[in-house]
Amino acid sequence: MRFRDPEKRKNDFKEVSLGLTEAQAVKEANRCLQCKKPHCIAGCPVEVDIPKFIAFVKEKDYLGGLKKIREFNMLPAICGRVCPQERQCQGNCLLGKKKTPVSIGALERFVADHEATVGQAELPEILPPNGNKVAVVGSGPAGLTVAADLAKLGYDITVYEALHEPGGVLTYGIPEFRLPKKIIQREIEFVKGLGVKIILNWVVGRTQTINELLEDGFKAIFIGVGAGSPKYLGIPGENLNNVYFASEFLTRVNLMKAHKFPAYDTPVKKAKNVAVIGGGNVAMDSARTALRLGAEKVYIVYRRTEHEMPSRHEEVENAKEEGIEFLFLSNPKEIIGDDRGWVKALRCDKMVLCEPDESGRRKPACSGEEFTLEVDQAIMAIGQTSNPILVRSIDGLTLWGEGYIKVDHDGRTNVPGIFAGGDITTGAATVISAMGAGKRAARAIDDFIMGRKETSPKTPEPVLTS
Ligand SMILES: Cc1cc2nc3c(=O)[nH]c(=O)nc-3n(C[C@H](O)[C@H](O)[C@H](O)COP(=O)(O)OP(=O)(O)OC[C@H]3O[C@@H](n4cnc5c(N)ncnc54)[C@H](O)[C@@H]3O)c2cc1C
Ligand code: SF4
Repeated sequence: MRFRDPEKRKNDFKEVSLGLTEAQAVKEANRCLQCKKPHCIAGCPVEVDIPKFIAFVKEKDYLGGLKKIREFNMLPAICGRVCPQERQCQGNCLLGKKKTPVSIGALERFVADHEATVGQAELPEILPPNGNKVAVVGSGPAGLTVAADLAKLGYDITVYEALHEPGGVLTYGIPEFRLPKKIIQREIEFVKGLGVKIILNWVVGRTQTINELLEDGFKAIFIGVGAGSPKYLGIPGENLNNVYFASEFLTRVNLMKAHKFPAYDTPVKKAKNVAVIGGGNVAMDSARTALRLGAEKVYIVYRRTEHEMPSRHEEVENAKEEGIEFLFLSNPKEIIGDDRGWVKALRCDKMVLCEPDESGRRKPACSGEEFTLEVDQAIMAIGQTSNPILVRSIDGLTLWGEGYIKVDHDGRTNVPGIFAGGDITTGAATVISAMGAGKRAARAIDDFIMGRKETSPKTPEPVLTS
């Protein structure tokens, strides 16, 4: 994959990765062995028939390849950019056992982007209307997938979205330099082309309750409201001026265009030295956004080592190239403010790693040493949790953990007719796992409305590499 020069790209919000050229894509497709038992498919949560789509690329039939992917996945240009393929399809590719696996994600992105230059691929088959209405709450990857799959089966689908733009985290969380907004808009237009209606600025649980939706004639409801509420570290100083929670910081820039203030209404505080606390994709996105807003120095402060970081490897490499400094084995214990209540430093413990914990990752413990980092902004990117507005408004709904909805393998909740999937059922996860949950729920909703007893084929859990 080609990337823009780090020295240039760190000053703007244009896309960092340039994708494959046609010649590179065909050469890469020719490396695929077309395995009889393709392990790559077992690693894909939406079961894309990878060898078949790659076979189309070999023949230079790119729209054919795209049509094949869309039989399984309605968001290929998005997944080709943000999926952790190294732990999924590519991580399972047979070629990876001895040499480099096929760059499946880059090929997926190539065929999806090719469509934008030559005109839309054929729409998939849509069954005639069956007269049944289904409501989808939330327009993130889980909601869009349920909506698209059910629309193809002839259902009348309305998606309700709380924000003024559809797409969920794809739109408000992941920055433009990783996932351009026009790519998201194009894929959402495709879903709308299947007949899906999207109603914006509609907070289900407030604007309208689930019971009111059921009274409106919806036969089933899918809840895909994500996990958008911030998590706190619980250390002193978290309420100082210029401490941001990553979701707010990124939403200001991505959704509200704060980097273009005052041309757009929402401001964001620009800082000279920024500490971003966390080691996942959210932390990388926050750090690289702070850099693009003009910070001179941006630190990632993470309590384990690089080996345990949950972020995609590619994003860590991109961040390093752009000059982000990584402080591993460092755990913040206090944010220090000046006499006017603004952040002026971050006090951290130096950590060591001990035995693995329940997550399998080695547990950090204080080494007894500490250090202080002079910063004028702190961004907390230590995870998100469920937003209670909708889930607590549904009588008798069984929850688990920090307010996540309990579902079975196919997204059934304990309340008949109400299904759920994505981050609101698992906690913060990935785009493709939310889409996989959406796919399974669409089959279960179809079974429920048609009165079948789970006769649709069961989707096995994907086999992911660690
Ligand atoms: C900054 C960031 C970077 C990430 N990077 C990656 C990455 O590179 N790769 C990857 O695979 N994953 C990444 N993730 C994780 C991934 O984006 C999520 O796992 C995924 O978007 C979850 O999808 P979802 O459909 O469950 O929810 P969401 O994408 O969160 O969408 C939920 C939608 O529901 C709406 N909603 C909430 N409440 C209501 C209500 N009451 N009524 C109506 N609508 C409501 C929300 O406004 C939102 O639009 C990232 C996450 C973040 C925050
Ligand atoms: S496992 Fe790798 S080589 Fe085999 S079909 Fe899949 S992509 Fe091709």
